[in-house]
Amino acid sequence: MTTILFAAGSKRWAEYETPLRRALDALGLDYTLSPETDDPAQVDYIIYAPNPSLHDFTPLTNAKAVLSLWAGVERIVGNETLTMPLARMVNDGMTEGMVEWVVANVLRHHLGLDRYVLNPTREWAPRVPPLARDRKVAVLGLGALGQACAKGLAGMNFDVTGWSRSRKDIAGITCLSGDDGLAQTLARAEILVLLLPLTADTENLLNAKRLAQMPAGAVVINPGRGPLIDDDALLAALDSGHIAHATLDVFRKEPLPADHPYWAHPKVTVTPHIASDFRTDSAAQVIAENIRRGEAGEPLLHLVDRGAGY
Ligand code: NDP
Repeated sequence: MTTILFAAGSKRWAEYETPLRRALDALGLDYTLSPETDDPAQVDYIIYAPNPSLHDFTPLTNAKAVLSLWAGVERIVGNETLTMPLARMVNDGMTEGMVEWVVANVLRHHLGLDRYVLNPTREWAPRVPPLARDRKVAVLGLGALGQACAKGLAGMNFDVTGWSRSRKDIAGITCLSGDDGLAQTLARAEILVLLLPLTADTENLLNAKRLAQMPAGAVVINPGRGPLIDDDALLAALDSGHIAHATLDVFRKEPLPADHPYWAHPKVTVTPHIASDFRTDSAAQVIAENIRRGEAGEPLLHLVDRGAGY
């Protein structure tokens, strides 16, 4: 009997219990699944999302893995009491949702749709946008999400450059890495999409110097993590006009405080961390498959590199 602890909060338990049982049953697993335990030493797997009730993993002496419901693991990866393997969330539902959100926001800015959506003076002023093939889009981060978004945009004919830590080779996408690669990527980013994880290396990556490397009138789209951007530098670049617009889904503090300058800024669009929310069935299947693998002695999917921080 495999003992599974759901340590992701009561709201998520209500959303996840049925999909998880369905996915675990479909794999024929013999298990108990509960949001609490009287005997932490009996727990085999911990399904986790940041929540106030679990910071200390020390009592979970026999746990074989922590399975994160979140793709971004910056809030747990540095926890020194976590000595067992940590797997993060990658699933088709989350990836498809992110591609839809990114493509929609790139198209909004590429086509200049705001001009017509918000047109209080009823101005009849047609403007022909360039074709996608003439629009340079850059994606920072070519992992599960960044790569899918880059491919989706390239599939629509956008001229896509992607940047990642290790060099990639992806058909239809100019792939760069390293500091020089970042400078080249930014220099051609008329529309920039941030899909990096938050780590010590990526925090404040988009700072004043790097914003200045982008073309005048560029657009920033951030569904990655808030601290990837130096907020003061971005606000200054928006005020100067160097950056034309920022569409931001993630923030240093969430919910974004009511008095934060982003809310009132005419060149900022705020979305409330919805770029790609949980897709419970799809996520439950990935969790169940990892438990099956763990019990069968097979390697787990989507293991986090604790040294790299993602
Ligand atoms: P992955 O771990 O699959 O990919 C991360 C990518 O970033 C990889 O290509 C990696 O390079 C690259 N990278 C990491 N560090 C560096 C660095 N220092 N320099 C250059 N490139 C770097 O993550 P996902 O694609 O699954 O997710 C990305 C992020 O999206 C998550 O961490 C999370 O923060 C965010 N997210 C946001 C959501 C939302 O609703 N807003 C929903 C889900 C996720 P390499 O390929 O070489 O390893």
